[in-house]
This record gives sequence, C-alpha cells and structure tokens, in this order.
Amino acid sequence: MSLKESVKWIIPVEIRPVVKRVVFRLLYFGNRYHCPVCRSNVRLWKPLGYDLPVITEKQIIGSGLRNALCPVCGSSDRVRLLYLFMKQKTNLFGGKLKLLHIAPEDQLRNIFLKAPNLDYLTADIDPMKVMQQMDITQINYPENTFDAILCNHVLEHIPDDSKAMSELFRVLKPGGWATLQVPISKSLEKTHEDFSITSSQEREKHFGQKDHVRIYGKDYTNRLREAGFKVEEYKWILDQNFKNQNNKHGLNEDETVFYCNKTL
Ligand SMILES: [Zn+2]
Repeated sequence: MSLKESVKWIIPVEIRPVVKRVVFRLLYFGNRYHCPVCRSNVRLWKPLGYDLPVITEKQIIGSGLRNALCPVCGSSDRVRLLYLFMKQKTNLFGGKLKLLHIAPEDQLRNIFLKAPNLDYLTADIDPMKVMQQMDITQINYPENTFDAILCNHVLEHIPDDSKAMSELFRVLKPGGWATLQVPISKSLEKTHEDFSITSSQEREKHFGQKDHVRIYGKDYTNRLREAGFKVEEYKWILDQNFKNQNNKHGLNEDETVFYCNKTL
C-alpha cells in the first residue's frame, strides 16, 4: 500500500478536507503572500493557465501561464480579486440577499453556502454539482428575482451572449448588481468572433480554449451596456486600499472587475 493509500485508509473521509488544508497550510507556510479566501499565509502561488500562442499574441488577461494558484484552497488570482471586491465594495455580506451563482467557483461556493444572510442558488447548463440546471439564454425565473448574480467566465462560451446578458439583466432586481467577468484581450479593440470556427482544435487556436467561441476586446463594456447594465470598471491597481501592500494577495495587475448594475 502506498503512503497516499495508507493515509486515506487511516483518516475518515469526512475530515479529510480539513486535514488536507492543515497539512497544506504547514507545507506552504510563508509571510510573502496571503490568500484572503482561505486566510492562509503562503510563500508562493502555484502555476496556473495556458501557454498558447494566441494568448500571448492577443494578450488575453488572466489566461496565460503564471504563478497564481493558492496552494491551500486552489483559488486563482481572479477568484481572490472577486472575493476582495465583493467583500469591500458590495453588500454581499451585509443584509439578506438572493444570490444566483452561475458556474460556481468552488472556493466561493464554500463561503456562500455558510453565509447566513444569503438565499443562495447555484446553477449551470451542466446539472452536476449545482442546485439547478440552467440555460442562461433562457432563464426560468421571473424578472426582478435576484439581488446579485455572479456569472464569471461563462459568456465567452455562449454563441448568443447578448441574449444571455439580457436575460441576466431581466432577472436582476432594480438596484441589484452582477459581476460578469470574461477573458479579455488587452490588444483587441473589437471582440473577435467567428461562428464558422466550430472544432475544438480551431477554437483553441483562435480563441485560446477548446470551448470558447470568441475573444472579447475593449468593446466588452459596450456590449454589457447594450443589455441595459450600468457598468463600473473597477481597477484594483488604482485603489488606495491596495497601496503599499506589495500585491500580497497575488492579484493580476491587468484585471478589471466589471461591476454591472441595474439602476432603480
Ligand atoms: Zn487560499
């Protein structure tokens, strides 16, 4: 029996995640970085992302190979930024909120499930691991249902993204907000999409991932506005709260949070 198998045999299944976290905290302990999601002090981030020519050529933010993964909880730089943003700039952990989380990131889901103020719904086109199967181009909820929606790194998979944006806007309550993050190119003015490209191989070559149907450009904010959202582009690198912190949370300096509001 291997060491790994022996450990599995000795430690009861229900406490394995806790034991794993304690061990990884000790293994990767250090004072250089801090993960706000699992509240661990770590000495490094592990590698994450893809090394593809299109990602480099189009300067796709947050897709390239980099050291950005928390060795304890597995959060990415994107997840850590979202968590900090929501905690510091939104009402997510304030009053009672009805939250819709599409394609939920594991680390955020674990936090939201324990938040007593949230009436929390997870959804995805793939019904595995979520509370409800959902096609976001056709959301089966009446208008003005949710106080907040998280739908990150989903729209780049959807051919009719403007329909999806309109649906997300429709089910959001007036005064509500959404974060709708996507991979975005630093160099493209206009979003690059070509629906004649359908094979996994060609999509990876052109869009940087096998199941992506486009690369968003600088016009992404306008697409969101066309769906009705008031969009605020939050750039953490310009936020005084982060000044003199030497990027201890391991964030991507190019990453912007697209904070989308449905005004009253
Ligand atoms: Zn972490």
